[in-house]
Amino acid sequence: GLTSRLQNVFSKLRGKGKVSEEDVTEAMREVRLALLEADVNFKVVKEFVAKVKEKAIGKDVMDSFTPGMVIIDIVNKELTDLMGGSQSKLAKSSKPPTVIMMAGLQGAGKTTTTGKLAKLLQKQNSRPLLIAADIYRPAAIKQLQVLGEQINVPVFSLGDQTSPVEIAKQGLQHAKDNQHDYVIIDTAGRLHVDAELMEELKQIHSETNPDEVLLVVDAMTGQDAVNVAESFNQQLELTGVVLTKLDGDTRGGAALSVKAVTGCPIKFAALGEKIDALEPFHPERMASRILGMGDMLSLIEKAQSNIDTEKAKEMERKMRNAEFTFEDFLEQMDQVKKLGPIDQLMDMIPGMGKMKQTKDLKVDEKQMGRIEAIVHSMTTHEKQQPDIINHNRRKRIAAGSGTSVAEVNRLIKQFDEMRRVMKQFSDMMGGPKGGKNKA
Ligand code: GDP
Ligand code: MG
Repeated sequence: GLTSRLQNVFSKLRGKGKVSEEDVTEAMREVRLALLEADVNFKVVKEFVAKVKEKAIGKDVMDSFTPGMVIIDIVNKELTDLMGGSQSKLAKSSKPPTVIMMAGLQGAGKTTTTGKLAKLLQKQNSRPLLIAADIYRPAAIKQLQVLGEQINVPVFSLGDQTSPVEIAKQGLQHAKDNQHDYVIIDTAGRLHVDAELMEELKQIHSETNPDEVLLVVDAMTGQDAVNVAESFNQQLELTGVVLTKLDGDTRGGAALSVKAVTGCPIKFAALGEKIDALEPFHPERMASRILGMGDMLSLIEKAQSNIDTEKAKEMERKMRNAEFTFEDFLEQMDQVKKLGPIDQLMDMIPGMGKMKQTKDLKVDEKQMGRIEAIVHSMTTHEKQQPDIINHNRRKRIAAGSGTSVAEVNRLIKQFDEMRRVMKQFSDMMGGPKGGKNKA
């Protein structure tokens, strides 16, 4: 996929004292191919690569970090920009109800998204009303009603014998009469963009004067999704896009091109069929996701301004060579403490956020004290080679540090895991695979 291709590109930049023009050119050639293969619009790719290249050439490599990181940082920022820079929020009318009209091809996920969006709004203490204005697709009305029931949101319907325009109009009146603050109109789609569909949508538009016209597009369709967005936008003046099916095996092309091609921001991302699988779209998070980085980039930024570079260099070398010990761990903890709340930092490290959820790994300042106590109770030899700590010694360490054997076990296990993650990460960032580092 795109993520692993990009990671490959960056790891090739390892071991360079300075990012030379040729390095950048070569890397960008590969980034270009990776993006094209991910079905990103050709023009978008061209501009993107040119921008990154311009920024990357001649830039000095930071003291303690690899050139790969510098370029990833640039690529990340440009990816974020490409997708709109910052989060684009849903409009809110000063004269409620705020009217949201859904549009899109059949099967894109309009009806499902209508339900999900209602749920999101409901969580913010709003009282949405859903309007069933798809009278063509068999069972479309029923589908919306089932969703409405599931989340306890009313659905306005006049069956399938009244025109969608009339349904929308009466539904809006109903919302006003019943103090609903949001109205979401679920409309019909076709298998492809056609004149009749557009005409109906335009009429609904002029009748209800929506604050938001959200185009729902299936991210799995890549370039096609962008073409669909372009043609809808020419006729309807979209205010935003909802990308659905991002949970599937999408190549990323739609997410990366849609804003650049149509000028329309992506407002929401749907990541599954379930009713709560909709989230506001954050360009910076999506960029990190594409790069497979978690929030590693913010961590790098923080580290660059706070960490003793000489020490960091040494740590980096140790991590790469799997020489990282509990002694280093203690020292690292001191450094890390300077960066801010440890819990937040853990979330930023790839793999760690997940570990925290699944393994009940909670780290706070108080617990750091306990961890330090455990490490201090180890012998020098044990700190350097935790593998040798047997059950008896674990009991002694627990007693010595005023903790429990379970805690000691957990720490040693987590330490192993951390070493593994660090190793993986540094390999990915371009550390020498296996052999010793020359630096
Ligand atoms: P509509 O024709 O545009 O109203 O599309 P629907 O809302 O009926 O959705 C079409 C199909 O796509 C349904 O089977 C949905 O469950 C599915 N779907 C919608 N959104 C998502 C999503 O984000 N992820 C996945 N995996 N499936 C989705
Ligand atoms: Mg539908």
